[in-house]
Amino acid sequence: MQLTENQEMYLNILNEFIEQEVQPRLKELDNVDEYPKWMQERLAELGFTRLVAPEEHGGLGESMTTLLLLVMRATEVNNTLGSLLNCSNNANKLLSFANEQMIEKYIPQIIEQGRFMGMAYTEAGAGSDSKAVQTTAVRDGDEWVINGTKMFISYRSACSCWQVSAKTVDENGVEGVSVFLVDANAPGVSYGEHFNKFGWNGSDTGEVFFKDCRVPAWALCGEINKGLHISLSTLDGARLLIGARAVGYAQGAFDKAYEYASQREQFGRKLTEFQVIQHYFADMYAAIEVCRGYVLHLAAELDAGRSIGKGGSVAKLKCTTMAQDVTQRAMEICGGMGLLREFGLARYYEDTCVIITGEGTSEIQKNIIFKSIAKERR
Ligand SMILES: Cc1cc2nc3c(=O)[nH]c(=O)nc-3n(C[C@H](O)[C@H](O)[C@H](O)COP(=O)(O)OP(=O)(O)OC[C@H]3O[C@@H](n4cnc5c(N)ncnc54)[C@H](O)[C@@H]3O)c2cc1C
Repeated sequence: MQLTENQEMYLNILNEFIEQEVQPRLKELDNVDEYPKWMQERLAELGFTRLVAPEEHGGLGESMTTLLLLVMRATEVNNTLGSLLNCSNNANKLLSFANEQMIEKYIPQIIEQGRFMGMAYTEAGAGSDSKAVQTTAVRDGDEWVINGTKMFISYRSACSCWQVSAKTVDENGVEGVSVFLVDANAPGVSYGEHFNKFGWNGSDTGEVFFKDCRVPAWALCGEINKGLHISLSTLDGARLLIGARAVGYAQGAFDKAYEYASQREQFGRKLTEFQVIQHYFADMYAAIEVCRGYVLHLAAELDAGRSIGKGGSVAKLKCTTMAQDVTQRAMEICGGMGLLREFGLARYYEDTCVIITGEGTSEIQKNIIFKSIAKERR
């Protein structure tokens, strides 16, 4: 693909940052499960957190394609780098439903500081079934009072505000689910310990508690009881970016395995001289390139102002499962070394397992894809 001048410039800046500041700390990033605040601050200083936001809001107005290319490159190196680049560019997501107060309060924090709008949807009893939330929001004069516990919530240290789903009752007594934008430091918001988990080191994933948390009336996103429309409508772009991250993991693992296999000798030959290993690399390469081509195609569609429909789900489903296959194969190619944490390959596989589950599991993507196919053929 022919890069534009701007894309080349951003990639050069990112590569320099990776080489000078991320690579030297890669072992620490891989092995210490702590959120690297310094990375978010540097991304903001370098302008990466304002990349796709509109110019009238202080952004650089760059394309989805540019963001995708940068996210793929960042994720080849480190999951947190890719995640932060991805999530700190969610000003457009906020702008898609925000009222004036929301824009005034949160957009500068997102664009200038790289703090972002996190999603606090999941609860103990509401995972794939996002309508099953038990968190409540009750209207009290000019405010809403939110009570409930969210779990598996990521990048808690990085967020300036939360999109929180909660049960509501409208003026006609009809129950539904609404979404509220809640300041991450609002009174009544608190945070539990971060979970000890497999993959996504440094993501600060854990519980968020809302206890008599009072938010102004304007914190309601869109219409009452229609909250899930908002969250679902922003998921297409989010899933496409997850697809791009999967391509990044797969490429990172491919490169690492290739470097090793082209030096390691057994039976008097380099591993890359065995035809079966050559075929593994050919299969991995083909799988990565097909997925890369698909996500870039979808990004171009979004850049042209066209909807990608079920494409976001297709991208997430195929890219994440491809990345799991590729990262697992890459580990096998490297034999015992592939399993050593110090070697830095196993983390790609672990991170891939997380993105298969997050933002809707593979089964949920298949449900969405089939529903859309059936609707088209009705
Ligand atoms: C590291 C990490 C970070 C996360 N970050 C966030 C975050 O920032 N914000 C947030 O809100 N959430 C977050 N999540 C939560 C994530 O979105 C959920 O884990 C995911 O939606 C699945 O929900 P669950 O874990 O409750 O699994 P369940 O819903 O219990 O699903 C278990 C299994 O059943 C299958 N299943 C469920 N329903 C169906 C169905 N209808 N048809 C077929 N199969 C089905 C699933 O595919 C899965 O295989 C995170 C999760 C992880 C692991």
